[in-house]
Amino acid sequence: MSEERKTIYLCLAHMSEEGWEQKYVKEAFDTNWVVPMGPNVNAFEQDLQNFVNNNSDGSRLDRTVVCLSAGTAAVHLALIGCGVKAGDEVIVQSFTFCASSHPITYLGAKPVFVGSEKETWNMDPELLEKAILDRKEKTGKYPKAIIPVALYGMPYRIDEICAIADKYGIPVIEDAAEGMGSRYNGQVLGTFGKYGVLSFNGNKMITTSGGGALICRNAEDANEIMWYATQARDAYPYYQHTAIGYNYRMSNVCAGIGRGQMTVLDNHIAHHKHVQDLYKELLKDVKGVHLHCQPENEKYDANFWLCTATLDPEVKIIGQENAYKEVIKTAVGGAAGVIHAVDSATTDCQPNDNIEALRVYMLSKKIEARPTWKPMHKQPVYEGAPIYTNGVEEDIFKIGFCLPAGPYVTDDDVKYIVDTIKEAIID
Ligand SMILES: *Cc1c(COP(=O)(O)O)cnc(C)c1O
Repeated sequence: MSEERKTIYLCLAHMSEEGWEQKYVKEAFDTNWVVPMGPNVNAFEQDLQNFVNNNSDGSRLDRTVVCLSAGTAAVHLALIGCGVKAGDEVIVQSFTFCASSHPITYLGAKPVFVGSEKETWNMDPELLEKAILDRKEKTGKYPKAIIPVALYGMPYRIDEICAIADKYGIPVIEDAAEGMGSRYNGQVLGTFGKYGVLSFNGNKMITTSGGGALICRNAEDANEIMWYATQARDAYPYYQHTAIGYNYRMSNVCAGIGRGQMTVLDNHIAHHKHVQDLYKELLKDVKGVHLHCQPENEKYDANFWLCTATLDPEVKIIGQENAYKEVIKTAVGGAAGVIHAVDSATTDCQPNDNIEALRVYMLSKKIEARPTWKPMHKQPVYEGAPIYTNGVEEDIFKIGFCLPAGPYVTDDDVKYIVDTIKEAIID
């Protein structure tokens, strides 16, 4: 059987069956709007606004959405919108993908990392307040922004985080790149803070091949973001600049893909949730494996972008004695771009041997499983950055792993994946 199987990837882009994406892209060509603006960009922004402004109870918000070339660009411009300048400090969740924190450094500002709490794996509100007070004491200033992250789509403790942010007058930038369509109290993530970041990279909830968006509080903020995204030009017949801008607007071709993808977004979200439910059912009797579920509180409504789990340290996995014996030659999972070669197979902070053995075993059965994201304060590039933690995210990194969850993952795949996990465990 396994010879005929196609590899089951973590999360793959999936186009609408009707081919709406190609129709809108063709329209861009037919009307000669092959530029970083145009009817698809405007319509995609409208579609996104409709989506994010619609609360589950039927009430409406009035956020404005600006489409950009990447989620990373959205983080960068949100920081600018919060007035972050060189030398400022910005608080960011440590347990995240690098795109949450790297843009802080683009501005010459300094990330201050905050650890996670056990239930959501996201920013711990108690540690957040501790960090704010300690930074004030040490530097005489409050941090300029707070970036919680919906890791794997899980909503953060947004009520508590916003209450603390308000108390000290610090704006919140929600990194909902992985959490598109996740809700808290019926309201879409990204609409609670001053700004909300979305990503349409190839592996996210929906794709534009590459792209992102920033959800803004009002049209005025959105206007300012749009200005910075289009090289910050002043109204003269020639190019005149009073600020440094960026070329971050979304292409009208990519926006055509996005418009098409909006027709499948609700289906994608429903499918991710269905896959999570199936894992929950099938993994419940597997000793030592614990699926990461959302808090038992009806306010939480995660999209389960990736399904994640932990593996107890004492569980033995086939091939564990060989874990980390070989230096890896390419990026795990075939990430895009260039990966620097390394000369050691290990670092001073890495997943347990049984997690690595499980990854290798799953891959031999054509299943892509991955370790959870390595906390940013453990990254060599952020050595010396302030960190406020109880060690939760580092503990999860050692025992956590991600399982396939995209629209291509069938019920049969989930059964096969869980059977493979059982097979990998040595009783
Ligand atoms: C993907 C991602 C981003 C950035 O999105 P891109 O569109 O890839 O630039 C930001 N934050 C997190 C947590 C992400 O996973």
